[in-house]
Amino acid sequence: MSPDIRTIPAQHVAASRISELDYNNIEFGKIFSDHMLVADYKEGAWQNPQILPYGNMSLSPATSALHYGQSVFEGMKAYRDANGDILLFRPLDNFHRLNMSAERMCMPAITADIFLQGLEQLLRLDAAWVPPTSGCALYIRPFMFATDEFIGVRPSSSYRFTVFTCPVGAYYGQPLKVAIEPHYVRSAEGGAGFAKAAGNYGAALLPARQMQERGYHQLIWTDAREHKYVEESGTMNLVFVIDGKLITPPVSTTILAGITRDSVLQVARDLGYEVEERKVAVEELAEAYKAGKLQEAFGTGTAATIAQIATIHFNGEDMDLPAIEGREISNRVATELDKIKTGQVPDRHNWVHRISL
Ligand SMILES: *Cc1c(COP(=O)(O)O)cnc(C)c1O
Repeated sequence: MSPDIRTIPAQHVAASRISELDYNNIEFGKIFSDHMLVADYKEGAWQNPQILPYGNMSLSPATSALHYGQSVFEGMKAYRDANGDILLFRPLDNFHRLNMSAERMCMPAITADIFLQGLEQLLRLDAAWVPPTSGCALYIRPFMFATDEFIGVRPSSSYRFTVFTCPVGAYYGQPLKVAIEPHYVRSAEGGAGFAKAAGNYGAALLPARQMQERGYHQLIWTDAREHKYVEESGTMNLVFVIDGKLITPPVSTTILAGITRDSVLQVARDLGYEVEERKVAVEELAEAYKAGKLQEAFGTGTAATIAQIATIHFNGEDMDLPAIEGREISNRVATELDKIKTGQVPDRHNWVHRISL
């Protein structure tokens, strides 16, 4: 941090809870690091950024985010490298995306000072919470919500921005069984599907649960107009390998621009694979499957990086894809991306933001 930048006032915990953490047994999303970053937007400006002990917030029942859903978030991870430095992966992209989501929800942009410098200060303070164990990481949750105590429908004039973090273990997800969603939609042209808005998640829970009741882990969203083209899988972007080529739907107003998606495509190109960003019809997948050309399918997102898809259900049929072990492209890309994030190979795209302690 350069000396001319004012440090954010911090109130430290009296005693750290870090000794309660068992790195070998981390339950996702339930253990929170000692501190959180908080800032409030009032009278047209972000004010009073501060670092506080992680803890409850007191809210009026009329808090407008609870009623009308002006609430956006981000998800990112910090890793520890062999020197003990903390490595953030593409934090500027999360910063820009949070502001893009905020703009769509008629919310103010957070400043780079608060988001990036505040985050850096928070991570220095809670550095002990970034797991040194391979495969583990510190999950970071920045979010912003409307705080006007008013139940008239209008954009709030006050907001709260917060960042808290939680250590997470290695992702041992089993290969997914997914099904093409023929009825519900996540997102439509002109909607807010490209924003990381809380309400998008709320509206996706019922369709996901119904698919789970039918024996699938997750669904594949299709376009709102015709249910003809695949869009995303659950809350991950979707990538297929057909005949040796990576194929993925282009980002649009209906598809969220995943940072993992972008990284996977770039690394694949770097490794010499051909990448196509274009619409993918469900029928194309079914035909490629029948011809034996659908070699790999996976979801991409910060939580899993690459979540392998074992089976895709469509039109009464389960398409069982080739075994995970033999998936050359996704396995190579996943390994390479993991090495970049943890500083084991040169960072040729300047993705890694190093915090030296
Ligand atoms: C967060 C999210 C993703 C994945 O984005 P990453 O930046 O890769 O974590 C994909 N789709 C949706 C709908 C999301 O909310």
